[in-house]
Amino acid sequence: MPTPNHYDIIVAGGGPAGSTAATLLAQYGYQVLLLEQGEHPRFHIGESMLPKAEPIMQRLGIDWAQNNLPKSGADFIDEKSGKHIYFPLRGKYRTFQVERSVLDEKLFNNATTQGVTARQNEKVTTFNCDESGVTVHSDQSVYQGRYFIDATGRNALSGKSHQSINKLDNLGKFALYKHYHLANTPKTEQLFTTGNIEILLTDIGWIWCIPLTQQRLSVGLIVQKAYPTELKREALFDHYINASPRMLELLEGAELWADLRIEADFSYVNSRRYGQRLACCGDASGFLDPVFSSGFFFALKTAELIADRLHEGFQTGTEADPDLHAKTDEIYQIGFQSMHLMVERFYSSNLVHNLFFEADRDERVKQEITAMLAGDLWLDNNQFQQSLLRGRNKMA
Ligand SMILES: Cc1cc2nc3c(=O)[nH]c(=O)nc-3n(C[C@H](O)[C@H](O)[C@H](O)COP(=O)(O)OP(=O)(O)OC[C@H]3O[C@@H](n4cnc5c(N)ncnc54)[C@H](O)[C@@H]3O)c2cc1C
Repeated sequence: MPTPNHYDIIVAGGGPAGSTAATLLAQYGYQVLLLEQGEHPRFHIGESMLPKAEPIMQRLGIDWAQNNLPKSGADFIDEKSGKHIYFPLRGKYRTFQVERSVLDEKLFNNATTQGVTARQNEKVTTFNCDESGVTVHSDQSVYQGRYFIDATGRNALSGKSHQSINKLDNLGKFALYKHYHLANTPKTEQLFTTGNIEILLTDIGWIWCIPLTQQRLSVGLIVQKAYPTELKREALFDHYINASPRMLELLEGAELWADLRIEADFSYVNSRRYGQRLACCGDASGFLDPVFSSGFFFALKTAELIADRLHEGFQTGTEADPDLHAKTDEIYQIGFQSMHLMVERFYSSNLVHNLFFEADRDERVKQEITAMLAGDLWLDNNQFQQSLLRGRNKMA
């Protein structure tokens, strides 16, 4: 039996990454403490999911079909030229548009059900990891453990304390978004039936349009390029929404459900993602501009990689090895860098016009892009992905 303040693993952050890591480690039989500074349900942006999250959901024992809108695929649209392309994303695995406050609470409560000691309203303030163990201070107590997992999201507790957060330039600068309750029209009915995410290109970035359950719509404007600075943020948002025929058509008769929110400076990598008795997962290890909706999937994937590797480390008595996660980090990097390169091309070389819109003429390329958009990032025969990675090697 552990002493009251002693655990095998202490996880900071009860978002999707932290709840997943904690649950999988509890399933292996470890004593896990999960500390969340806030209280569920809490609002979180990031509503469009990828199918490759589903096998991890299954391991967690979560049926994510409940309360969420089935998502068929992703539509990239240029209203100016009238071009668009649709990538179907439902294959072996299903995916959904979700209300994150509900799903994140479910993941957190599921951790408790599976044996994790989970506490809310408790903020991790500092941690120390060395060869003999870890000490974690919260605003309420001090804990000892054998391993510390940082899943503090974009607060990036360890990345900030190690000064290892490096911003990724030239991706989206900030996001402005609102939620609406839509009127019942043939156009909105069609949107809720397909459940597609729509990505509408604009001259300063792009707009996301994500249908949710109960006739709700999440609409976000990502600003990447210089914009008319005389416009205040709300006016900027309204200006671009009003300039989009598609948005006007969907928002006809809609009611505002949640006011404007803003997120800024969201793309970075943490160059120190693991160390002695320390591993970061989810946004604490890095975050990409959300154009391809990869954040939630990477949160679950990094948590899974870390939990499985840590279990091996405990079993072989190598958990104090500072390089315990070196191999799994290489695996994660294949996925993260591929997605990063695709996001970079989205902004720098007009990927959607030059490649996506042409992909309908080449079934192989279309399938390879579709695989990446589904989160299937570790196939060894994806030539499109390999060419992206080769391009990176040339640039290095
Ligand atoms: C504008 C925007 C749009 C997005 N759209 C999408 C999308 O469509 N699809 C998608 O998949 N992703 C999207 N994302 C990203 C996605 O939301 C995140 O990648 C995902 O939430 C990461 O999960 P996480 O568990 O790592 O972090 P979080 O979900 O942020 O959870 C971290 C948790 O840690 C807690 N915490 C922080 N510091 C401490 C501390 N010191 N002690 C204790 N607890 C702490 C926080 O309260 C929080 O609950 C978007 C992000 C942005 C900014």
